[in-house]
Amino acid sequence: MKTKLIIANWKMNPETLPEAERIASAIQKQSKHFGPVRIIVCPPALFLNSVENIFAKNKKIFLGSQDVFIGQGVSHTGEISADMLKSVGVTYVLVGHSERRALGDTHAIVREKLLGALKDGFKVILCVGDSERDEHGKQYVMIKEQLEDALMKLPKLLIKNLIIAYEPIWAIGKPESEAMKPEDLYEMTIFIKKVTGDLLGPKNVTKIPILYGGSVTQNNAKEIIEKGNVDGLLIGRESLKADHFVGLIQEIGN
Ligand code: PEP
Repeated sequence: MKTKLIIANWKMNPETLPEAERIASAIQKQSKHFGPVRIIVCPPALFLNSVENIFAKNKKIFLGSQDVFIGQGVSHTGEISADMLKSVGVTYVLVGHSERRALGDTHAIVREKLLGALKDGFKVILCVGDSERDEHGKQYVMIKEQLEDALMKLPKLLIKNLIIAYEPIWAIGKPESEAMKPEDLYEMTIFIKKVTGDLLGPKNVTKIPILYGGSVTQNNAKEIIEKGNVDGLLIGRESLKADHFVGLIQEIGN
């Protein structure tokens, strides 16, 4: 069975450091039972260091950042640089999450962060997502545009560290019954592979993992992976409930 990639996006949760440490420790404790998975935990920046201390020796769990600042100099109040992230053990970076795009990350900023983080040696998860679907395929137009703006003329050397997470915005933060239907996801995954292949060369893209995110739980995770034609998942809320998250990972491995 191919190793599945599972991203835990904690967003602006939990409220306190002890709670973050409790969740991380509970996941760490159960990780010896995990099957062929690679877990990337993305806590809020303030908790990265402490969470890394808990996972430091774990060969299946890695540290991710929810964002990165790319730019010269140090006069950027409130921002966190790639070097700072590296210094606390971050190896993965999320860019283009729909919630960051809603906060002002334009297509150009997403591309800048993607390129900068890849050049800095991170593995980068590029999030793309459609806000609407219709019978004319509006969703495909939106995804094509986001992929083109981010990936056009991406240097070939950087492709090996690229991961794409497809997250339909209408499916994020909803009840599990509103997650995308696996058969629809199957079509979208093929489309993403085709567009990415056209942009970067079909041979170069065969190894780019494609993930799905949006209201995944331990009840629908396995079916989404198997029937949706994806290499892993991006999990929001369910990654904060350690027992649910562990259950989801075990479900995938069965
Ligand atoms: C997300 O925010 O990226 C996400 C997938 O959230 P949830 O799993 O809670 O829908």
